[in-house]
Amino acid sequence: MVLNLGLLVSKCMTARLWGLTQRKMSLLEGLAKTWKGMVSEEKSYRELRQAFPNISALYARNASFKRKSANDPIYLETQDFRLIDTKKKFARWFVRIPIRKGVAVFAPLRMRKRDSLELPSVKIHDSKLVKKNGMFELHLSVSKEVEMNYAYRSVFGVDLGERVMATAVLSSDASNPAPKFYGKNVRSIRRHNAWLRKRLGERKILRVIRRIRNTEQRTVNVILHQISRAIVDEALANNAVIVLGDLEGIRSRARGKRMNRIIANMPFHKLTEYISYKANWEGIPVITTSEAYTSKTCHNCNSEGRRVNQGLFRCSACGHEYNADYNGAANIGKKVERLLEHVSLRRASGSTPIRGAIF
Ligand SMILES: [Zn+2]
Repeated sequence: MVLNLGLLVSKCMTARLWGLTQRKMSLLEGLAKTWKGMVSEEKSYRELRQAFPNISALYARNASFKRKSANDPIYLETQDFRLIDTKKKFARWFVRIPIRKGVAVFAPLRMRKRDSLELPSVKIHDSKLVKKNGMFELHLSVSKEVEMNYAYRSVFGVDLGERVMATAVLSSDASNPAPKFYGKNVRSIRRHNAWLRKRLGERKILRVIRRIRNTEQRTVNVILHQISRAIVDEALANNAVIVLGDLEGIRSRARGKRMNRIIANMPFHKLTEYISYKANWEGIPVITTSEAYTSKTCHNCNSEGRRVNQGLFRCSACGHEYNADYNGAANIGKKVERLLEHVSLRRASGSTPIRGAIF
């Protein structure tokens, strides 16, 4: 079976520098200020290198630096700073950031609870020093090779949709209609902001419009991280594999120009990405499946039914009515359970593994 391979998973870890004395704070601020000044003056690589002999100016030439944002991060290469593992439970990690010859800032790092920096299995690639809300943070791009857990007991079917971003059903609950809904508020946030922008657009206040768009993106992004985290935690707690309806399915379900536009602008791709890397990091496989048919099938009797409106599904055979999102998610769960049964039966009998569209 091709399934039992380690997978290289990357993600970003954010760690806050804490317990900074005034002196350390001003050293870092000085560094940030000088760096920002140099960057916005578009100094050459050589000039940057001279001003920051201890900090690689590798990214200084990066075009993205030319937009002068208030919070330009300082890029640190892995050889520039050092992470120190004290192996203690409290304040385990320290960072040492060189400022200039003979001067460095040494500070403890506050990691997020679930971010464990198990070196050397976790590799650090790229790091940025960012000032945010008056604090300094270290943003680490890390990766590790994860052994996927294919000995899961159940399937967590996740259906993406416009009304509710994600509706999920656990296969072991297939007969017990207890779907979980994630991101009910995304649509209303987006609609409200679209309406605001439109109103402002009539008065051509482009700066304000841009600000609203940025705020919305940040708000939605935070929600997407929460949704993906909650889904992964649920899968973890139930020893489940995650099965995601793919985006083609959503598109084929959309009817009309307006709906198509809304769907195209929903951050499904981002959500899918967040779920995938968070799940994979924990060793949970994520499988995508076409859900194109799921909206038309009754999960109860497998007959064809239809959506009487956006939220309600009615089966023409058994006459039952269900929440349409729930019906979709239950179908995904059932479909995958059938497939997995099939796969394990074939594996048990020693025949060739299936390499279908699913895996
Ligand atoms: Zn039915």
